[in-house]
Amino acid sequence: MENKFDIIVIGSGPGGYVAAIRSAQLGYRTAIVEKYNVLGGTCTNVGCIPSKALLDSTEHYHQAKNKFNVHGIEISNLGINFQQMTLRKDNVVEQNTKGIQYLMDKNKITVFHGMASFLSSNQIQIINDDAEPIKVLSDKFIIATGSKPSSIPGVNIDKERIITSTETLSLPQLPKSIVIIGGGVIGVEMASIFNRIDVDVTILEYANSLIPNMDSDMGKSLKKIMSKEGVAIKLNHKVKSAVNKGDYVEVTYLDAKNQSHTIEAEYVLVATGRKPFTKNLGLENTKVKTDNVGRILTNIDLQTNEPSIYAIGDVIGGAMLAHKAEEEGVYVAERINGQKPHINYNRIPSVVYTWPEVASVGKTEQQLIEENIEYVKSNVPIGFLGRARAAEEKHGMVKVLCEPKYGEVLGVHMIIPRAADLISTAVVAMEYEVTAEDMSMISYPHPSYSEAVKEAFLKASGKGNINL
Ligand code: FAD
Ligand code: NAD
Repeated sequence: MENKFDIIVIGSGPGGYVAAIRSAQLGYRTAIVEKYNVLGGTCTNVGCIPSKALLDSTEHYHQAKNKFNVHGIEISNLGINFQQMTLRKDNVVEQNTKGIQYLMDKNKITVFHGMASFLSSNQIQIINDDAEPIKVLSDKFIIATGSKPSSIPGVNIDKERIITSTETLSLPQLPKSIVIIGGGVIGVEMASIFNRIDVDVTILEYANSLIPNMDSDMGKSLKKIMSKEGVAIKLNHKVKSAVNKGDYVEVTYLDAKNQSHTIEAEYVLVATGRKPFTKNLGLENTKVKTDNVGRILTNIDLQTNEPSIYAIGDVIGGAMLAHKAEEEGVYVAERINGQKPHINYNRIPSVVYTWPEVASVGKTEQQLIEENIEYVKSNVPIGFLGRARAAEEKHGMVKVLCEPKYGEVLGVHMIIPRAADLISTAVVAMEYEVTAEDMSMISYPHPSYSEAVKEAFLKASGKGNINL
């Protein structure tokens, strides 16, 4: 096997495998190193893909149990085969990991399985338990080693009862109860999965809102919807400890008035954020620097202190999102190639896959206030839509924030079925600086959820609404 490459990518998540493909397309001799035996990283194996597979399965059950009757569909003996649900999820993951292996072969990318560790700025060692360590040289390296779950003081993740999203996605049996520490993205997606299949779910969130990093109207609306569906949501609650008691866990937390309480559950999911992963990477043998929370420091070109080493994805700063990592993978390969790619971080959308989905791009209203930026806003509920009535979807809204004089779109936030797909319209508007008025003048299909987007742009641009 070759031991000298133009570019070696370390880590095969969405950042790494996309960086490798773009590098190979640009004619570089490219290799990728992955410490596990399967490619795809967090996103494909224990993140985006398996969580969305379970979100889809559980939504089907929830619909059949609670919503079909209104459509005149009657079902008897409805039940859950949790093993089949888990097996389907595993099959979906396998199809995706095989797809990535196919792309590596198609693009003639050399794949090494093993732990990569820098020996110098142009050489790594790859350690695999099943083989002798090998040393490989390269002109350039792209670090894409991703992130791992982090915890909070007093909570020791034992992976048995006190677990992370990884174990939660592969529980051996359907539990009776689960306490989720953190009402961020992982917290609300996992709460949706388990609440829909009749598990007793409690979210303990430190902030005063669910998904506190998004526009606060989204968190408020999501809380209402999820509470109605049966999730117990405790905001302004700070978890102090979690203790594994054998077949259950005892969680101690402080409420908003600093009163201490305990709650028991079969499992506790710790969903309090993730931290960059650089363990055993041998950064000490290079000039690569990290910040106080372990993120690799880069310049605007995503190049580290070591000119031959770049870093992308969760292991550097910014949103921990698969598509952000992918954009950075393409960016670095093209920069190395002397091209002038660009990434506008303010226009990277984020989505929470609850039902309805929540999606967002640009500034939140809270950020505009903090930054003293003038804005006008429009909030449009979705209940008036013929499409929503036909589908029995009653809850949701689209919110547009724009600059008052010229109507530049500053932020768009929505909680609406298929928000993950609808938000792209807003990304295009912002990327090409199309005004709110322009966005209200184009045709949107009827009946569709996108008509709520049109109405929100109409309202934001000071025109009257048509259907409201
Ligand atoms: P990763 O995907 O973490 O990949 C890093 C890879 O590097 C891993 O395979 C790791 O084994 C390997 N590695 C690490 N160190 C070494 C080494 N020294 N040598 C060799 N290999 C190494 N994002 C979204 O955009 N949409 C979603 O719906 C979504 N859902 C999520 C659901 C969950 C439950 C979780 C946990 C995350 C989710 N994310 C989602 C976030 C997304 O998974 C990450 O942002 C994304 O995976 C980051 O990609 P990456 O390439 O930077 O790193
Ligand atoms: P997060 O930052 O979204 O949420 C963590 C939550 O934990 C916050 O709301 C925080 O206030 C709360 N918290 C912190 N300390 C607490 C305490 N002591 N008690 C109670 N609550 C506490 O992080 P996450 O949900 O763990 O997700 C990690 C990353 O994975 C995110 O950055 C996200 O971007 C990514 N992810 C994305 C998706 C998606 O795009 N759909 C899905 C899952 C994960």
